Amino acid sequence: MSLAGKVAIVTGAAQGIGRAVAEELARDGADVVVADLDPGRSQETVASVEKLGRRALNVKVNVADFNEVKAMVDQVLKAWGKVDVLVNNAGITRDALLLRMKEEDWNLVLQVNLNGTFHCTKAVLQPMTKQRYGRIVNIASIVGVMGNVGQANYAASKAAVIGFTKTVAREYASRNVTVNAVAPGFIDTAMTQGLPADVKETLQKQIPLGRLGRPEDIAAAVRFLVSEEAAYITGHVLHVNGGMLMA
Ligand code: NAP
Repeated sequence: MSLAGKVAIVTGAAQGIGRAVAEELARDGADVVVADLDPGRSQETVASVEKLGRRALNVKVNVADFNEVKAMVDQVLKAWGKVDVLVNNAGITRDALLLRMKEEDWNLVLQVNLNGTFHCTKAVLQPMTKQRYGRIVNIASIVGVMGNVGQANYAASKAAVIGFTKTVAREYASRNVTVNAVAPGFIDTAMTQGLPADVKETLQKQIPLGRLGRPEDIAAAVRFLVSEEAAYITGHVLHVNGGMLMA
């Protein structure tokens, strides 16, 4: 277990990709901070991390609020003394064609997806640089590279996350903190379950591997990027999309 003794924070870990990442890191030996908006809904993830024999800390946090993020990191440092891994996974969509997109929906998506990533990264960098070890993985999206009709706010936030990833990777490489992104294609979670059946069918036809991704497909990529084997990889965007985009 390459993550034995490591402490990992996973945001948006109550369900979907975040939950699969929390479980995968626990399977590999990490203690996991299950960070999400609603601690009641995080309970299932907490239970499965504990079932895997690891410690879990259920923390209520809105990543869009820097004070809450700072309080979360302080709580983790107080409870477990360090942070080794951060997975910036919390994210939302508020889709509309641009002419109909409300300013509040533009701002909200940027505030959670981009500013949330900034807040959490900034808050963990101090302990990580101090201990000369850190692994940060930001969950971007295929849409941040390809664009997607109805998702100008979301695509802009995810493209920005990629630029942010590469910059922070350059800034803190000398402190042995690696920063990478995983760009999922279309994954079967609550975020995509609302798509109409015909849209899903059209999407599926564009995926050479012929199916939507599973949260576990993304979790495996995250586990690799935070592992010892990936120690020489930083500033990379790992596309996990069934071949939909070959970047
Ligand atoms: P999901 O099933 O909707 O899960 C996202 C989780 O994040 C939810 O538990 C959500 O809580 C939580 N969250 C939302 N806003 C938050 C905030 N401000 N602070 C803390 N937690 C917050 O979505 P998913 O599909 O697993 O997506 C996870 C990540 O992958 C996102 O960054 C998403 O953009 C990215 N991604 C997903 C796909 C896909 O096809 N599913 C593709 C590419 C990228 P609530 O439910 O209470 O809002």
